[in-house]
Amino acid sequence: MTFASTLRQHGFDGLRRASIETLQVNVGKICNQACHHCHVEAGPKRIESMTQETAKRVLQLLQSTPEVQTVDITGGAPELNPNFRALVQGSRVLQKRVIDRCNLTVLLEPGFEDLAEFLRAQGVHIIASLPCYTAENVDRQRGRGVFDRSIQALRLLNRLGYGQAGSDLRLDLVFNPVGATLCPPQEALEFDYKRRLREDFGIEFGRLLTITNMPIRRFSDYLVRIGKEESYRNLLEDNFNPATLEYVMCRRLISVSWDGRLYDCDFNQMLELPTPGRLSIWDMDSFRPAAGKAIQLGDHCFGCTAGAGSSCGGQLRSSAAT
Ligand code: SF4
Ligand code: SF4
Repeated sequence: MTFASTLRQHGFDGLRRASIETLQVNVGKICNQACHHCHVEAGPKRIESMTQETAKRVLQLLQSTPEVQTVDITGGAPELNPNFRALVQGSRVLQKRVIDRCNLTVLLEPGFEDLAEFLRAQGVHIIASLPCYTAENVDRQRGRGVFDRSIQALRLLNRLGYGQAGSDLRLDLVFNPVGATLCPPQEALEFDYKRRLREDFGIEFGRLLTITNMPIRRFSDYLVRIGKEESYRNLLEDNFNPATLEYVMCRRLISVSWDGRLYDCDFNQMLELPTPGRLSIWDMDSFRPAAGKAIQLGDHCFGCTAGAGSSCGGQLRSSAAT
């Protein structure tokens, strides 16, 4: 079954964007890591990177779209983009909540010694990848030594006040499965993460967000290599949960690419599936034309609707509600 036919079976004739609460900005594919599961296929050798002109245009449109509440900056490692700090500062001046999708190790890169302090001073909400609380699993997915450096970076953030009880400095972690499985229930896993990271390393954080791996790009190549591509796609399809459709992130988000094109989400961006109408920041005066529009769907959307559902904000439904 295709995603479109599955929707029809449940009485949905496609999906439309309800509102634009979040502007996700993908500033490019350059990263200091090259993880096995990366749906962006990011890495140190990539060259795609948002220019100053494009970043300025994004901020202009943001100013003209006051209904956007959150600016969610991603990459690659977004902090490596020379315009990252201007995007953060410009968004904060407009009183938007700013999220930095941080891989943690970038905080220890030479030349970025002041990055954590910059994020603290700007009150940026950090959402950081840590797919397990054990070194073996993290290093298997993200590269040798990444776990130890991630722990070092988390301690640095904790020292600055991030993730501490009563602090406004939000630090959330992201889990995604190391293998070809669905995510376990978010609440139970968060409990385990908190206990293990506190007992083993003295680390504190806010929430754990579980995100299903999309069978696209590098993760799709990995599935082919281990002979599980078909079974993983079947797993997502068999676990389709119509209760998640109201909450998939594309209903309330618009995603801008490093070159200024608009997409319905970061996954569509990586698959080069543009918004219907092929919207671009150069052809609009605000992000409003994207509101109410049909969403470009595909079979990869089963990745957002399987089980308890998945989005950049983690599980969509509580496990009890699925
Ligand atoms: S998953 Fe994140 S940290 Fe890893 S290569 Fe992709 S963008 Fe970089
Ligand atoms: S992949 Fe998910 S967020 Fe993107 S269009 Fe499909 S359902 Fe929406």
